[in-house]
Amino acid sequence: MNPGRIIHLQSGKSNANQKYVIYWMQQAQRIHFNHALNHAIEIANHKNLPLLVFFGLSTHYPDANERHFAFMLEGLKEVKAILDHFKINVVIKLISPELGIIPYLEQAAALVMDYGYLRHQKQWRKHVLDVAKVQYPDLHIDMVDTDAIVPVRVSSDHAEYGAYTLRPKITKLYPLYRDFSKISILKNIQALELMSDVDLTDIDSLLAKLDIDRSVKRSETYHGGYIEASRLILLFINQKSSHYLESNDPSTDYTSLMSMYIHFGQISTLDIMERLFLAHDHGQLEGQVLDAYIEQLLVRRELALNYVTYVKGYDKFEEMTEPWAYSTMEKHLFDQRPYLYTKFELEQSQTHDPYFNAAMKEMRDTGYMHNYMRMYWAKKIIEWMPTYQEAYQTTIALNNKYFIDGRDPNSYASVAWCYGKHDRAWTEREVFGKLRYMNSHGLERKFEIQAYVDKVNRGIKRP
Ligand SMILES: Cc1cc2nc3c(=O)[nH]c(=O)nc-3n(C[C@H](O)[C@H](O)[C@H](O)COP(=O)(O)OP(=O)(O)OC[C@H]3O[C@@H](n4cnc5c(N)ncnc54)[C@H](O)[C@@H]3O)c2cc1C
Repeated sequence: MNPGRIIHLQSGKSNANQKYVIYWMQQAQRIHFNHALNHAIEIANHKNLPLLVFFGLSTHYPDANERHFAFMLEGLKEVKAILDHFKINVVIKLISPELGIIPYLEQAAALVMDYGYLRHQKQWRKHVLDVAKVQYPDLHIDMVDTDAIVPVRVSSDHAEYGAYTLRPKITKLYPLYRDFSKISILKNIQALELMSDVDLTDIDSLLAKLDIDRSVKRSETYHGGYIEASRLILLFINQKSSHYLESNDPSTDYTSLMSMYIHFGQISTLDIMERLFLAHDHGQLEGQVLDAYIEQLLVRRELALNYVTYVKGYDKFEEMTEPWAYSTMEKHLFDQRPYLYTKFELEQSQTHDPYFNAAMKEMRDTGYMHNYMRMYWAKKIIEWMPTYQEAYQTTIALNNKYFIDGRDPNSYASVAWCYGKHDRAWTEREVFGKLRYMNSHGLERKFEIQAYVDKVNRGIKRP
């Protein structure tokens, strides 16, 4: 592993009480291409101690509902099975992770945690570090950024203005971070006496027991886990990638569908990138497609990580975008809106616009929406709500409620993009001011957009 991934938080000292090394798994819910897990195995091997993998399952995770829990638990079930197979101790507690992990620190020689990009994820990690500093000063603590290809604090030390400012930096750095070959073997496989609070063998009965928000049902179309992510990325490489350059058309299904797996850390973006490089080396993937995909996976996604890292108010209307965008919105605040809808009407697809209604239906029914329709959908909410602030809050709320990949750095950066962030000023017009504008004629001109509506109405099948 490139040591640039590791943030060393506390140095440790040996003491007789130390029985194991802990890997606190939270963001990176996988075995493959998990630098944090591998680092923890290497420390355990060095100290000849067993490893304990801890996961805290918080039923009150911000904005999470049954759809998100089902997808996550499907992935965790696989993770647990693989850890069991390799005789790595694992404990899953039904408690907010930053609290649940504390009792396990007393007998630990080292704690390795993965990196979380959003505010609450950082607060959790800070809480654990603060407690450890006072109560467990002998505990060695490292944090490992394994969900970015280039660690977010390495690629840039400030908020980037746009993709064009991040691109040259990250393009230069990423070859140094192709740094995963295979997971190390744990030498000490001593079993620890541990009791998990949950049984992952039967996800349906576990889901039924959990005290969670049930307002959104699990997706019948998309299922969680590394195995499913691997199936879909192979499907992409073998059958879809030759059409990737046409994938903007919402009536087609030529994208990789990786965002939900990336969101839950069920597959690593480095793993995806390596598979694409391999396919390219074997002549299975054209260079142009590789470049276009890397632009999304590396540049756009890591611009989102940069955004939530350095823009403190990434989820606050007053702070999320640029001064020019606020000035233009202020100037056009009282422009007459052509239609006005409530949040309920938007959410229930009760607008005059069949394309918006279909996009909203896709999101409600499946937990996913095509990228081009996401842009259109969010732009229409700007146009049809009384204020920009209400539009922003409605968009974030619906995005995070229905999308399986919602509540992600990409969610905040992409919605902010609709309000001018990482974009440029366009020709001024009513309601939008200088924000980029989209309309239904554009959809009709560029695509067979009725085919998209028909596809959604037929019901989107498991790919
Ligand atoms: C209003 C709006 C809301 C969005 N909300 C989310 C969200 O909640 N979660 C989310 O992950 N993405 C969000 N996006 C970004 C993008 O739409 C999705 O990442 C993409 O559609 C996922 O499909 P895919 O994996 O098949 O994409 P592919 O085209 O196969 O791309 C591969 C990967 O590249 C990354 N990527 C692709 N497009 C973008 C983009 N525009 N910005 C950043 N990274 C990108 C993703 O990690 C994606 O999985 C949003 C976009 C808009 C305009």
